[in-house]
Amino acid sequence: MRLTALDEPVTAVRFVDAPRAEALARVGIATVEDLLRHYPSRWLDLRTTAPLGSLPLGVEATAFGTVHEVVVKRPRPRLTITEVALVDDTGVLVGVWFNQPYLQQRFRPGDRVAFAGTVQMEFGLRQMRTPFVERLGSSDDASWLGRILPVHPATEGLSSNWIRRLVSEALAQFGDLPDPLPAALRVRRGLVPLAFAIRAIHFPDDLEARDAARRRLAYDEMLAIQMGMALRRHAVVEERRGHAHRVDGPLHAALLASLPFDLTQDQVTASAEILADMAAPRPMNRMLLGDVGSGKTVVAAIALAAVGDSGTQAAMMAPTEVLARQYARAVGELLDTAGVTWRLLTGSTPTPQRRDILAGAASGKVTVLLGTHALLTEAVTFKRLTLAIVDEQHRFGVTQRLGLRGKGEAVDLLVMTATPIPRSLALTFYGDLDTSYLRRSPPGRGRERVTTRLVPKSGRGEAYASVRAAVAQGRQAYVICALVDESDALEAKAAIREAERLRTHVFKDLRVGLLTGQMRPGEKAATMESFVDGSLDVLVATTVVEVGVDVSNATVMIIEDADRFGLAQLHQLRGRVGRGGHGGQALLFADPRTEDGRRRMKAITSTADGFDLAEQDLRLRGEGQMLGERQHGLPELRLASIVRDADLVEAARENAHDIVTADPHLTDPRHAPLMVAVRRTYGRDWEWVSSG
Ligand code: ADP
Ligand code: MG
Repeated sequence: MRLTALDEPVTAVRFVDAPRAEALARVGIATVEDLLRHYPSRWLDLRTTAPLGSLPLGVEATAFGTVHEVVVKRPRPRLTITEVALVDDTGVLVGVWFNQPYLQQRFRPGDRVAFAGTVQMEFGLRQMRTPFVERLGSSDDASWLGRILPVHPATEGLSSNWIRRLVSEALAQFGDLPDPLPAALRVRRGLVPLAFAIRAIHFPDDLEARDAARRRLAYDEMLAIQMGMALRRHAVVEERRGHAHRVDGPLHAALLASLPFDLTQDQVTASAEILADMAAPRPMNRMLLGDVGSGKTVVAAIALAAVGDSGTQAAMMAPTEVLARQYARAVGELLDTAGVTWRLLTGSTPTPQRRDILAGAASGKVTVLLGTHALLTEAVTFKRLTLAIVDEQHRFGVTQRLGLRGKGEAVDLLVMTATPIPRSLALTFYGDLDTSYLRRSPPGRGRERVTTRLVPKSGRGEAYASVRAAVAQGRQAYVICALVDESDALEAKAAIREAERLRTHVFKDLRVGLLTGQMRPGEKAATMESFVDGSLDVLVATTVVEVGVDVSNATVMIIEDADRFGLAQLHQLRGRVGRGGHGGQALLFADPRTEDGRRRMKAITSTADGFDLAEQDLRLRGEGQMLGERQHGLPELRLASIVRDADLVEAARENAHDIVTADPHLTDPRHAPLMVAVRRTYGRDWEWVSSG
């Protein structure tokens, strides 16, 4: 569908012939708009000019002069250096190019030229490396002299100089873009018009204009994303009838009465938010965010009890078998005391049992079905599923979420995550979900009781002594060895070797077990059981323990090669110790060699708060890396940055919400251009936005 002239093929732009169109296609530029949105990667400020003898050092500048001589040097077999010396009355400037000997032909002594670039002092001479060159007196109307020069990402067959020229043509022909942003909104946010922004991002008159353009275009990116999220939320939540659960029934009361502790304030608030959604006759679409140990399990159990009171069914899915079993223990115990029937289904459930469970779910006899991905298989059916809880820990899987929800009609969805996500990021990636937060851990279980230390090679002996001391007091320890980014098989090998070494050398007198991702599910479960029941002192493990193992008696964790891990992963890992009120120690074995590794070690040892750490992580790595896998329905950010433009995320979200509330399908003609922008932004993921 051709929406506007901007959707014309890029060949509509003057000078774009078939070969150039092909080169542009290689970098994803197919339409006129694609070309207009091929933003510069940097800008050279060439407005500063000065006589050669007084060119300021270290800043971008433009210099005019006469070519004095051209020299090509070959200091090494594979290296040529071309030097072009410019002169004027005040001094000399040398332009230097590497491995471009043909440039020699382009300059003749006496030519009047301008060089633009950054001036450096080398061997007492001012020089510019690979400067931009322009001949003076040429009639080139794209002259950059004394201007801010955009540098566009180049591609094979098209230099950035050529792309600049093509963009300039595209602007001349198509630059009067209609503004999709309602004018009142634009003015209120202090944003420049789109047509101005798109010109100024490429060819700004000054840096203020460029920054205003960048901000406007960044806002547009954020708004398009938030519009998609708001439209989706509307489609999922407002336009369907969900089950109105009974949230004050006897099972709910029994569960609360049986809790051996008082709920924290955060738990009270979160469960009230969840129960309010469940009671409402529209589907819940909510995410519960809370660090490991913040008490999400109890909150989930409260929601499950309400399902019991409503006479319907719930499914709760964990990302791993180990974790699913743990739910069977923790959630199962709570459900038992409340009198809610539940079963556990995983890939390793034996066939006869499995048959029985499937029949129970289909007939409605089983109220709560806990499990792994096994819950997603076709054989699993429910009589009346009204609540799906998906614990994603920190592996996000939209398809899984949708899959479980699809087992019923307009099912209430609660997504739980143990990844503390900074707010701006959560709004961008999960803007369609309402959020509840558990920020403070239950008393006596907080992270503040876990100390994290960096242990250099020389400190190993002492660290092993801490393990011994803990075991002498009846506690247990983990040793995590993982080869991040290596295959599971290699990782397992490293763990096996380490377990052997600890058994035969370091902890000869202790009981050392081994858990790797390569072991059969039965073996894994058996090893976990022995650790849980205390018949192992030390558990050597790969990162399989990361996802939610809860052994409250474990107080020490050693992490080998800690600097190879991401911050989120380290934080997850250390959350495994100190869960029993005995305090805990995370000992990070690392001698970080990279600056990045050192920064991460500094961050993890300096704060115990997951949300704080996540903010640091976001700043260290940038949003692109924060979540391993790109989210469905999440368009790329070109100019906007979740870190730098966090305020724009909030603004865009608020505006998107208002617009969608007033015009839920963007049918108002005034919103037509905005609709076009949102659809263009989401592209193939439009389905996700609109189908709910
Ligand atoms: P999460 O699922 O968020 O990782 P859990 O629900 O497993 O955390 O809770 C961690 C531990 O804290 C569990 O042992 C749980 O029994 C305990 N706990 C949960 N809520 C409270 C509370 N309000 N007071 C005291 N202990 C609590
Ligand atoms: Mg838990």
